[in-house]
Amino acid sequence: MNLSGTLNVFRLFANPALSLPHCTIATFDQLPAPLSAAFTVRDGEKQPDIRAVVLDKDNCFAVPKQNVIYKANLSKFEQLRRAYPGSRLLIVSNSAGTSSDIGYAEAELLENNTGVKVLRHLVKKPGCHAEIMEYFRNAPDAQVTSPAQVAIVGDRLFTDVLMANMMGSRSVWVKDGVVPDHGLLSRFEKGISSFLLRRGYRAPEPQSDFE
Ligand SMILES: [Mg+2]
Repeated sequence: MNLSGTLNVFRLFANPALSLPHCTIATFDQLPAPLSAAFTVRDGEKQPDIRAVVLDKDNCFAVPKQNVIYKANLSKFEQLRRAYPGSRLLIVSNSAGTSSDIGYAEAELLENNTGVKVLRHLVKKPGCHAEIMEYFRNAPDAQVTSPAQVAIVGDRLFTDVLMANMMGSRSVWVKDGVVPDHGLLSRFEKGISSFLLRRGYRAPEPQSDFE
């Protein structure tokens, strides 16, 4: 069970816009690269300076429970790896790298298959934003000085997108994922997001950039 997910969903009662993404795409291969282009800016504002990207795994770039890149996503994944080398690209999954991943065997396999670091984290998404920022703080090559320089990519509004908004980052919602998800939670998320958008709700502004 994801305790962090259950507790943090209560935040949405107070502030439903926390579940809204800054950019929506159908599938991972539609991700703009560089990622700054995913985020629209108002007149006179400059494009955000995205220095690091956090990727969800299950139903984002991989089939759920598999630790390989889904073949239709291989070229986009490679493009991202080139655009965000070293510590700038990080996989944060709620399966691989968590306490459910015994001995971190899945995390290791995923790192070998992707060439990208998998965060080992104690708290599941959406509650692990502090552990993510701690990782970037300790990785000088990422040059991340603010959560606004981080973009989170994932298929779940109540974990990936909620976490991005709680940490002051931007998010890209991969709405359809790799395989269709007709689960109750997924349908509920999609219903809530279209309801909120119709009501004029928008994703919150990320934390203002600071150097
Ligand atoms: Mg996912």
